[in-house]
Amino acid sequence: MSNTLFGGIEAGGTKFICAVAHQPPELINTTVIETTTPQETLAKVCDFFFPYVEEGSLQSIGLASFGPIDIDVRSPTYGYITSTPKPNWQNTNILGLLKQSLGLPFAFHHDVSGSAIGESRWGAARGKDPSLYLTIGTGIGGGYIINGKPLSGLTILEMGHIHIPHQWEIDPFEGICPYHRDCFEGLASGYAIEHRLGQRGETLPDDHPFWEIEAEHIAHALVNYIFTLSPRKIVVGGGVMQRSFLFQMVRNKVRALINNYLQFDILLGKMEEYIVPPQLGKYSGVLGAIAMAMDISSTSSKIEASQSFVS
Ligand code: ZN
Repeated sequence: MSNTLFGGIEAGGTKFICAVAHQPPELINTTVIETTTPQETLAKVCDFFFPYVEEGSLQSIGLASFGPIDIDVRSPTYGYITSTPKPNWQNTNILGLLKQSLGLPFAFHHDVSGSAIGESRWGAARGKDPSLYLTIGTGIGGGYIINGKPLSGLTILEMGHIHIPHQWEIDPFEGICPYHRDCFEGLASGYAIEHRLGQRGETLPDDHPFWEIEAEHIAHALVNYIFTLSPRKIVVGGGVMQRSFLFQMVRNKVRALINNYLQFDILLGKMEEYIVPPQLGKYSGVLGAIAMAMDISSTSSKIEASQSFVS
């Protein structure tokens, strides 16, 4: 079975990461492609996968894409990147174009869901289900994995746009979300940090008083997710969380906000094992996409197996 390969694509707004694997998380080959126009970028993606298609080894591909995307399989625009502000990519049938060129079964989801699946399958949340993955970078997004799958309903989760208590006396910044102003993303994203302070978070010293406010916002959001979704593990990634001292500040504030209401060892004494950084680095998204590809492949082989059993 050494010729059985699965493909993954993490389609991001600045770059696409493509990979093939036989036994993930080990990757056999990877490439990074700059996101330019759909025609140019998707042609390069296909060039990467063509040799594996031709040799017959590639079974399926998972696509974890930047959004907004349409994940409703009954919708006429299923598989599209829809209303993105990114030039050239509005209403792009990214899934359809790749499927047509490569002729393989595809799984499709949001890029944050991809990272959430990757970390759940092989990374920091391995063996912990349900788990939550949150990215705090330019924007804020989250994926919630339950029974190995990302939760979605009407659409994907929009965990960055929840409202958290805005204590104006300690944080007079009005927020920058164009839709909700002072939602979580409007107050605490990398973009919000840059707007409120006139400098990027990377350039702020570790002892800047703003980090207390940032940690407070993140902690409030996490406590809301803990009370509503009850994850067994919370993985927090993204550019802002590269400031690793934030983790202990957030853990302490989460514990204080829960205020002994939940009496579990993991929340009382082992918070450093509960709220953790990602483990798969830049490959969490593409590995999640590969996991998606493996899942549809095993589902279809089960269907084939049951059909052949019946006949
Ligand atoms: Zn918002």
